[in-house]
Amino acid sequence: MKTEAQAVIIGGGVYGCSVAYHLTALGWRDVVLVEKGRLTGGATFHAAGLVGQLRGTPSLTRMIMYSVDLYRRLAAETGQDPDWRETGSLRLAATPDRLVELRRHVATARTYGLEMHLLSPREAVDLFPVMSDRDLLGAAYVPTDGSVDPTGVTLALARGARARGAEICEGVEVREILTKRGRVRGVVTSHGTIRAEVVVNTAGIWGRELAARVGVVLPIYPIEHQYLLTGPIDGLRRGLPVVRDPDLLIYFREEARGLCLGGYERHPLPWGVDGIPPDFHHRLLPPNWEQFEPLARNGARRIPALETAGVRELVNGPDGITADGELILGEAPQLRGFFVACGTPGIASAGGVGRLLAQWIVEGDPGLDVWRMDIRRFQAHYGDPAYARGRALEAYSKNYVLRYPFEEWESGRGLKRSAVYPRLAGLGAVFGEKAGWERPNWFAVNLPDGPPTWAPRGWARHNWSPAIGVEHRAVREAAGLCDFTSFAKFEVVGPGAVGLLQWLCDNDVDRPPGTVVYTQMLNARGGIECDLTVTRVAADRFFVVTGSAFGVHDLAWITRHLPEDGSVAVRDVTGEWACVGLWGPRAREILQQVTEADVSHGAFPYMTARWVRVGGAEVWAQRVTYVGELGWELYVRPVQALGVWDALWEAGRAWGLRPVGYRAVDSLRLEKGYRYWSVDITPEYTPYESGQGFCVKLDKGAFQGREALVAQKAEGVRRRLCCLVVAEPQAVALGNEPVWAGDRVVGRVTSGGYGYTVGESLAYAYLPVALARVGTALAVEIDGVRVAAVVAREPRYDPGHTRVRA
Ligand SMILES: Cc1cc2nc3c(=O)[nH]c(=O)nc-3n(C[C@H](O)[C@H](O)[C@H](O)COP(=O)(O)OP(=O)(O)OC[C@H]3O[C@@H](n4cnc5c(N)ncnc54)[C@H](O)[C@@H]3O)c2cc1C
Repeated sequence: MKTEAQAVIIGGGVYGCSVAYHLTALGWRDVVLVEKGRLTGGATFHAAGLVGQLRGTPSLTRMIMYSVDLYRRLAAETGQDPDWRETGSLRLAATPDRLVELRRHVATARTYGLEMHLLSPREAVDLFPVMSDRDLLGAAYVPTDGSVDPTGVTLALARGARARGAEICEGVEVREILTKRGRVRGVVTSHGTIRAEVVVNTAGIWGRELAARVGVVLPIYPIEHQYLLTGPIDGLRRGLPVVRDPDLLIYFREEARGLCLGGYERHPLPWGVDGIPPDFHHRLLPPNWEQFEPLARNGARRIPALETAGVRELVNGPDGITADGELILGEAPQLRGFFVACGTPGIASAGGVGRLLAQWIVEGDPGLDVWRMDIRRFQAHYGDPAYARGRALEAYSKNYVLRYPFEEWESGRGLKRSAVYPRLAGLGAVFGEKAGWERPNWFAVNLPDGPPTWAPRGWARHNWSPAIGVEHRAVREAAGLCDFTSFAKFEVVGPGAVGLLQWLCDNDVDRPPGTVVYTQMLNARGGIECDLTVTRVAADRFFVVTGSAFGVHDLAWITRHLPEDGSVAVRDVTGEWACVGLWGPRAREILQQVTEADVSHGAFPYMTARWVRVGGAEVWAQRVTYVGELGWELYVRPVQALGVWDALWEAGRAWGLRPVGYRAVDSLRLEKGYRYWSVDITPEYTPYESGQGFCVKLDKGAFQGREALVAQKAEGVRRRLCCLVVAEPQAVALGNEPVWAGDRVVGRVTSGGYGYTVGESLAYAYLPVALARVGTALAVEIDGVRVAAVVAREPRYDPGHTRVRA
């Protein structure tokens, strides 16, 4: 075994072998994969092998589409046949809402160029004849889905990697991960030490404990997952499609002329709670018939022949489920050079995961927007097993349950409450959760008397409330009070702070103390990695504020770029500051009542910040807005936050002040054209494409991404984020809907919603420049129906920006 390598991969399951395959494909030769037992001996050998391509995010779908491409050619390329069977797949609908969901899926699939059709019950049964059409309303069919032999595909990837020079060592256990000054340096194994600047943790359910030893939060938990293998059933033959019947919580496919039938029960069983037994390798768990019985019964409802089919085996294996059910990829924020790839569906996604991670390692950039899979989405509290396991169990139990828009987690609630929580609760806040924080979506106190005068139709009506419109109007017409305590906040301090931030930001932050700057931080391609406000507090001190969920991510981005000379220190101060937001045309009168500071426009201009005293508390007030109105973010120590809230609340009563939740804020920002990072703007888009060119200061000197922007400016952009006004205001897009030009899909909605002031249904989408002209007639497919839409001038509300500068 080598003693030095460019990369050491821990774990010889499907992910580890795929990472080795793709690292060597990118030209790395010094790659060592160490596996404590035999290849595939973890979760991989007992997987059912289903490969379904359409997923909840564009990136994961694209990644699995690549897996399919790869699995098709692996046999010819490596000489090891992974038994890829391109049988197609069916997803059944047995309820009207499920049928709407399928229609939405079919529409989304179009935006990826993934072939998917809606079939009648008859057509579905024709494709899988032993199936009953009981309760069936329709099915979605993907002809290029299929299944693969999990062991075969892993061995094929390993063989491909070996052929290009990778060393694959079985029977070698990693016992320690070496680190020095925040960087990984190698591993100590049962067979000696290997020095390496890159270590990849693909240890599946063992990965969490390995990561924890070096301070990395990797919330993946084993949960028992079972499938039944039956004896032969008449009518089953090779080549039949894989079927998912989510209303019955089951999936099935043909296996040796019998059935392989598994599912996701509502009450899953965690495994290995007290630790994974040391000798657990290439082993299964004892079959648990009692646990499987509801799924077996459901199976017999769909396939009556199951009642009499002989049983070959009930396979029970621990599946690694992450704390939100999505994959976990990327470089650990706590440890440079320590990469991870874990989570299910590993067999389906391994091709794409291996390619993406290899690119990330070799080029320093995954090349795709991976936010929903990014290890940097987990805050420290995900290191708590009780919390994170609860989430993993909930994610597993809901895998096949119909999910409506804006649904919230049920487990792990109440973890972080802001200091003003009692007031929010007292006003009837309907709470959602972000990054562990309880945050009001809307307030019962704002529910109008009588029936609502307006409501969205279709899918968008779920988890909607007429209180949202009332709160929206309060902000536009009087004033709204928001609890924004969950904002992630950092302090960047030191003689090198301004230099670092000038390098990271596209906007010019070298401004006088007391200046608030809205800016992006870019990657070398000019893609938007962070979107935040940077406020200069003093010559060598900055206060940075970003979205609640993006704290770990953005902090890691800044930390990664810290100069080595120690001239800058960065610190997360999220918990040290509460934030009360006050906006609306009456915000000034309200604030003026409770402070002696002069808050007139002349004394306290837009995009400036200063200390003011409010109700006896020292408050750092920033005149900035995400809702498009005059107002302030008021940062105060948590112990004094309640006092500030109460003072503003009392002062505001006479002015029509209302408490405002996040759903109204979203509607307000949409009609004001404010972008939301992770949907409207991502590392895949530049500020010129996203309509944020106004932030880019090319003449301020060098900054990361500048060269790419200069080149793009010279060439001109090819696509642009556009605001579409949908012709029917009650037809509301929620994101991922296709945008049509005639009979061509030309874009996908990034975010959408109803603007209560403009009275329009708005949808944002990147469009080719030829279609980005104002007035271009298009259509947005909402709940499977194409609705006319037109590219509109934006922002829809207050294009002259007079309100924010009032
Ligand atoms: C019953 C069942 C059915 C499934 N069906 C499907 C399906 O149809 N489709 C699908 O896509 N997914 C399916 N999955 C999920 C799939 O099996 C996993 O997502 C996938 O196998 C995970 O691969 P991995 O490489 O991350 O982990 P593993 O295969 O578990 O590999 C991790 C490896 O790391 C090794 N290791 C751990 N610690 C160390 C150490 N310290 N030193 C060296 N080596 C170490 C282990 O020995 C192990 O071999 C199923 C899972 C189960 C349980």
